[in-house]
Formats: sequence, structure tokens, C-alpha cells
Amino acid sequence: MNILVLNCGSSSAKFAVIDATTGDERVSGIAQRLNSGEASLDWKLDGHKHTRALPGAGHDRCLRAAVEVLGELGLLAGLAGVGHRVVHGGSRFSASIRITPEVVSEVEACIPLGPLHNPPNLLGISIAHELFPALPQVAVFDTAFHQTMPPRAYTYAVPHAWLEEHEVRRYGFHGTSHRFVAEAAVAALGLDPTDHALVTAHLGNGASATAVRDGRSVDTTMGLTPLEGLVMGTRSGSVDPAIIGHMARALDVAPTQILDALNKQSGLLGVSGLSNDLRTLEEAAGRGHARARLAIDVFSYVLAKAIAALVVPLGRLDAVVFTGGIGENSSLVRAQVLTQLAFLGLDLDAEANARCVRGVSGRITTSTRPQAVVVPTNEELLIARDTAALIS
Ligand code: ADP
Repeated sequence: MNILVLNCGSSSAKFAVIDATTGDERVSGIAQRLNSGEASLDWKLDGHKHTRALPGAGHDRCLRAAVEVLGELGLLAGLAGVGHRVVHGGSRFSASIRITPEVVSEVEACIPLGPLHNPPNLLGISIAHELFPALPQVAVFDTAFHQTMPPRAYTYAVPHAWLEEHEVRRYGFHGTSHRFVAEAAVAALGLDPTDHALVTAHLGNGASATAVRDGRSVDTTMGLTPLEGLVMGTRSGSVDPAIIGHMARALDVAPTQILDALNKQSGLLGVSGLSNDLRTLEEAAGRGHARARLAIDVFSYVLAKAIAALVVPLGRLDAVVFTGGIGENSSLVRAQVLTQLAFLGLDLDAEANARCVRGVSGRITTSTRPQAVVVPTNEELLIARDTAALIS
């Protein structure tokens, strides 16, 4: 069953056609630099890359161009439905759902919680409705998997009225990825689906770790927004909130500008002063760049502490699962993290760790209980599967 998967962000839109039954990706692509002179549509077919320049194009024109490409490839006739990634579902959505006008209104009601992400997600839904009026559409939320967190995990120790009147609580993100790799790890390791204890670490430009007990998220590092928790490419992760007032006064700027810097100029980029890209930092650190080295050390240390903390709600640890661009490829970060977690009984297997890169999955510890594994994520496939399940 072919499903069109759409992930509409503010300046880019990713699309893929996936056979939800076999998991085969028929085509995937991205419209980038939207609303700029350099806007383009790039797609990958059978390992070959193609590109079409669309100067000045926004979401609408780019998605129409993507549909044209699907038409040329003969992929439109067989489409059974459209699955959308939606970032913030607040407390309203604990699972994927078929899109109706009521669902659209509820996603709109979540805009104050996800002001950067939900508007482009909604734009994608509205364009897809126009382009495919006859096809069923499904929303798959980044937050839904974490709705099983208990109150002690999602409650901030702030005035309770903030929760009751303004929905201020921890929500967590990357839920699709955490769910996908947790399920894949349970299957691959032969764990009991009703009795397991995992920490999943999704490490890309955004990064979060989740405690998964018996298939359910019981705690996670991201909060009201994706700013909380681990060190990320350009996000600070958790900091003392008093920094905001302190730096706003010191620089004589509005607090929102400091918040912007915590989102866009911090993390690996902020510490290194060089790049948000870990590959660049690994190369620079290898040449002796001290702050690139420091950025990698802070990233790994904060991650190791977070993984250890997430063992508390689990009560025991069966496996740590690494995924995302960094989790799937950086043997350096994984080695630094596991070395600091040796006290949990995680014994690094240096050879296996070096081997598990570029899509190779497997165990990277000599220990088996607990163990650490690399599992490539595939959020698009899970969106396609959820969509297929809800429309059939
Ligand atoms: P996004 O969150 O944007 O989807 P990805 O999951 O693609 O990001 O992860 C991007 C990160 O993965 C970047 O920091 C990149 O440097 C890192 N990465 C990718 N390949 C490697 C590699 N071979 N070694 C180290 N880091 C890598």
C-alpha cells in the first residue's frame, strides 16, 4: 500500500512515497530554501539524485512540483493515503489520527505550544487536501508517544496554575523515532515486548533521550519545547533559566533574543564557535582545535548523565539504543558516552563500535545485559505504517 509521507517545516518540506506493507521507499525528496531565490526540489530515485530549481517558490509551488514528479514516475495512481508529521499535539493527541476538520482545529489550538512547527505542518495538510481531495490523510505527532509519561515525569515544579491555565508541562518530542527504534530493538534483541527497559538516544541536529518501559515512554529529556535536555547542534539543551534575564540585562536586549540565541547559536555551534555539524567538529578536534574538542566532550558528558538519570524510572536497564545521524555514525561520541557509563555494566566493544556506521546496526558492547546497540531510525516508515493502519 503506497503512502505519501509529508514533513513540512518552515523553510523545507520533505516527501516520500513508501510501500507501508514492504517498507520499500519508492522515492524520497526535499524542497529546500523555500521562499528564497535558491528554492529547489531535490529527489532521490534508485540511488540517483535529481534536482529542479524553483526560484522564489514557497510550500505550495514546491509541493505541486513534487506531485508533478510523482506523476512522471507513475506513482500517483497507486497512492492510498497521505501521512503528515505534526510536531506538537499537546495533551490532545496520544496516538496518530485520521485528519478531520475537528483534528485540524485541535492542531491549530496547539499552535501556542509549537509556534514554529505547527503552522508549516498545517500548511502541508491544507495543500495536500487541495491536491488530493479524495485521499484519506493522517496526522502522526512527535509528542504522542510521550503521552504515557506519569505526572511526576511531566510536571514542572512551577506554579500549578501555569499547567492548568497555560498547558505548561513536559511533552517530549522525536516520539516517532523513539517508538520506531524501541520496537526495532525489542524485535532484534529478542526482548519480551511486555517486559523491557530501554533508553533510546535520538541524536541528530536535535537530540533527545527517552526511557521506554514495556513499549511505553515513561520519561524523556525534551520538555514544553524541543529546547530542553541534551546538548544539540545549535540548541543549548537545559540551562539555568536565570541566564535569560542575566544576559538580556548584560547585552541590553529583549529576553526573546536570548531565547533565540539558546535555540540557534548555542549547543555544539556555541561551544565550538565553529560548526553545529559533528563531523566538522570531529575533524577539527583531530587537528587539535580545543573548543571543537570541548564541544564534543560537553555533548557526550551531558548525554551520559541523561542516560544514567533515565535508568531511574526504568528500575533496570536492558539496552541503550543509539540512533539519528550522530547516534548511527559517530563511534567517537558513542565510545565517550559508554566509557562514562561503564559503572552500569556497559562494556564497550571498540571493534563493533567502529563497524556500526552508515546504516550498519548491531551491538557495540561486549556485555549483553545491559548492552548498547545501534539501530537506524526510519520515521517516514512509521508514519507510512500508522497511516496505512488507520485508513485500511
Ligand atoms: P536531522 O536532525 O537534521 O535529521 P541527522 O539525524 O541527519 O539530523 O544528524 C545530523 C548530525 O549527524 C550532524 O551533526 C552530522 O555531523 C552527524 N553525522 C552524520 N554522519 C556522521 C559521521 N559519519 N560522523 C559523525 N557525525 C555524523
